[in-house]
Amino acid sequence: MNVITVIGARPQFIKAAALSSLLSNTEGVEEHLLHTGQHFDDNMSAVFFRELGIPAPRWNLGLSGGLHGAMTGAQLAGIEAVLVNEQPDVVLLYGDTNSTLAGALAAAKLHIPVAHVEAGLRSFNRRMPEEVNRVLTDHLSNWLFTPTKTATANLEHEGIVGSLVHQVGDVMYDAALYFSAVAHARNERSPALTALSGRPFVLATIHRAENTDDLQRLRTILKALTMLSTDLDVVWPLHPRTRSVLARLGVDVSAAAGLHCIEPLGYLDMIEMEQSAQMVITDSGGVQKEAFFFGRPCVTLRDETEWVELVEAGWNRLAPPTSAEALLKAFRAALGTSGQAIEPYGRGDAARRIAGILQGSAA
Ligand code: UDP
Repeated sequence: MNVITVIGARPQFIKAAALSSLLSNTEGVEEHLLHTGQHFDDNMSAVFFRELGIPAPRWNLGLSGGLHGAMTGAQLAGIEAVLVNEQPDVVLLYGDTNSTLAGALAAAKLHIPVAHVEAGLRSFNRRMPEEVNRVLTDHLSNWLFTPTKTATANLEHEGIVGSLVHQVGDVMYDAALYFSAVAHARNERSPALTALSGRPFVLATIHRAENTDDLQRLRTILKALTMLSTDLDVVWPLHPRTRSVLARLGVDVSAAAGLHCIEPLGYLDMIEMEQSAQMVITDSGGVQKEAFFFGRPCVTLRDETEWVELVEAGWNRLAPPTSAEALLKAFRAALGTSGQAIEPYGRGDAARRIAGILQGSAA
């Protein structure tokens, strides 16, 4: 079975780190990576290939930037050209980015079966570009690998049932388990952690369009993090999109002594920071779950989340950024808390199960 896996953005590199290394050792399966180039900075792309042992992409289309239509359209044409040439048996896709949707459309129109890892997630908010990407990709997929029972139920409500759907668990849980051992075995520590010299801190990440493109929300978040940083150090690895909006606003991110705005971290450093933080504040999907994997309370700066089980079990709190005072109250309420013992993301063997199912289909 010849598989072409389309990746393009940071969370997809981490998911590929869990599954692609395994597929390369799966008999009867030959996988090649196609990188759309959606994320291209060293610290948003190359660092993950270097540190996590992800096979080098066979194709890099170098396509990024522009509005959603222009980016997705260019990726669609670029992926299609590769698929026409290579005629793979399967196109494998992760998550909900524009690269995911472009891969799904290109493959489906060429009648190439699509496998979607992290299928069935829904925020029920169609204003999110990710929601549009994931709904369409699911409806074009032939294998839908869901991470949770909620995701499986979401598909069922949309009429996607039966042998197409495989509830395998979450490949990000596999990655977190495996790479935390790798991070601990390193000789060096994350420089950001070393710089804190043992002081307690909170880790923040912000990159969703609803927070970066709405300047009022971004200003509210900045104000709340600045207020929190007078009590506790706040480490904020800035996503390039967030950094560029803050720069356009003329914000001096080094103005507050306790607020440490740093470059995006490699995954091993990120895991170490998550494990050492008192609390996580984020709008990232992956980071919400990693806070839980490492037993840290989390405040999510959004109106809704796809990972509802963590809110229900008390690990995560939703705090839409409407006022800095309300956010600060939510941060203080979350500090020092933990949730119920739950195991919603499988047993850390999602990648092995996906590889087995694909291998079984090849036979
Ligand atoms: N991440 C990272 N360095 C950072 C911030 C995030 O390695 O500076 C990792 C994080 O640990 C998680 C993934 O990137 O595994 C999440 O990606 P992102 O927040 O960009 O996207 P989302 O999960 O929201 O789709």
